[in-house]
Amino acid sequence: MTETRPQIEAAPLTGEDPAPVDVEPEALPHFVDGARWTGTGTETRPVVNPATGQPIARVLCGTAADVDQAVAAARTAFAEWRQKTPKDRADVMLEAAAVVETHAEELARLESANAGKPMPLAREDVAFTIDTLRFMAGAVRAQQSLSAGEYVAGRTSMIVREPVGVVAAITPWNYPLLTAAWKIGPILAAGNTCVLKPSEQTPLTALRLAELLADVLPAGVLNVVVGDGPVVGEALATHPDVALVSVTGSVRSGQAVARAAAESLKRVHLELGGKAPVLVFADADLDAVADGVAFAGFGNSGQDCGAACRVLVEESVYDDLVARLVSRAEALAVGDPAEGDHIEMGPLVTQAHRDRVVGFLDRAYAEGVRAATGGKAPDGDGFFVLPTVLVNIPDGAECTREEIFGPVVTVETFTCEDAMIAAANGTRYGLSASVWTENARRAADLPGRLDFGTVWVNDHLAFAAEMPWGGFKSSGYGRDLSAYALDDYSRTKHVMVNRTR
Ligand code: NAD
Repeated sequence: MTETRPQIEAAPLTGEDPAPVDVEPEALPHFVDGARWTGTGTETRPVVNPATGQPIARVLCGTAADVDQAVAAARTAFAEWRQKTPKDRADVMLEAAAVVETHAEELARLESANAGKPMPLAREDVAFTIDTLRFMAGAVRAQQSLSAGEYVAGRTSMIVREPVGVVAAITPWNYPLLTAAWKIGPILAAGNTCVLKPSEQTPLTALRLAELLADVLPAGVLNVVVGDGPVVGEALATHPDVALVSVTGSVRSGQAVARAAAESLKRVHLELGGKAPVLVFADADLDAVADGVAFAGFGNSGQDCGAACRVLVEESVYDDLVARLVSRAEALAVGDPAEGDHIEMGPLVTQAHRDRVVGFLDRAYAEGVRAATGGKAPDGDGFFVLPTVLVNIPDGAECTREEIFGPVVTVETFTCEDAMIAAANGTRYGLSASVWTENARRAADLPGRLDFGTVWVNDHLAFAAEMPWGGFKSSGYGRDLSAYALDDYSRTKHVMVNRTR
């Protein structure tokens, strides 16, 4: 590709020190065609550590012209990458996984500083990133379809599975590295090339990943353009040479991308918001429920599309469960992840997002809702909100309908199973849900009655690279992880050979 500006010596992306580093005068550049690239724009933005509110780096704000360059590089690289056999691509993916493993602690520290993640969680994200790359490397060699055969007399039919071309991946700030890996893994394994646009708030690990993989991946196979959604994301969604655009983000961004992509009729893959109900029956192990909700409702400060945020509990055990949830919430070690591995919950990602969560709380109180614990932003630096359990909730309250995306768990009561199911399904979201019961009939029957892409029984937020992740209704369509993701990022072609001529 042609560079329109010279390379600059950019700030180091080592991330080895979890403490805030000085802001470098030069902004971190994009990564295009196998190298750092300063792009065509002049604007930059700070990247902030949410635990301190202090800037830790600067990045460039990409432009539509930068997208053109990145897509051109990806398009050129596609010609060779698509020709590689599954084994050859798998070998490269396995090497990529090994590189990430070598730099695991560095990536975890960078992620922790940029996204405010406790270190144990940041390390889990890196481990799952590695596992995703390894799984996709293996799965692409074991893809299956209808067998070749004679379906019309005298003709042999076969299904050829092909990559789609250049795929744009647009990712959020809550799992910056992992959501990127969930896209890059199957996109590249299936033989596509990729232009990744990470969240403008949390671009550091994606940039570092691209840089680390530059020795392994051919130039142009993975490109990263940093910038705002309505500029860089929109340019990707409308670009004529992008075959498919894959978004993990809010419903609003998903809708914007789907609208923009409609003009060129490109394929769209959407992993959007969630409002996961947690259905607790009186026969459930309430300690297991409380542990599960503490992990899945307050983990990552509740900034999880599958967060266990809406508890629906049988009335007879309501008091017992609320007491357990309050005790778990109050026991959590909340603080700056840089303080050490004992920190279990960090801040929210930005001041704006913290204000948004506090706004939800204020409106809930105006509706008569009460915080059994937490319920506010503590004094001090950083964008923290205390782990919060909301009770005394009127029917249809906003806090039970909308995705708050903070460490806020609501608890409502029910006396009958059908009403509980109707309430659980009564949301526009359809990403994930959990059922907690010791009753075998309920455990087997209820998942089929719940309108969610993942239903856990006596668990919440457990994942496997082999199993698909994705939603129904406003939570979007398309599947991350599993062999289904490889299907989503490829196309089928029927080849029929007439043997009678
Ligand atoms: P967001 O929608 O604000 O941003 C996500 C990405 O979309 C960012 O890279 C952003 O720049 C980009 N974007 C925004 N507007 C755009 C536009 N008009 N065109 C193209 N791109 C655009 O989401 P967020 O705040 O970063 O993340 C939180 C949201 O992501 C929550 O709703 C959460 O539920 C969802 N999420 C879903 C999953 C899932 O697997 N379903 C996983 C993680 C997060």
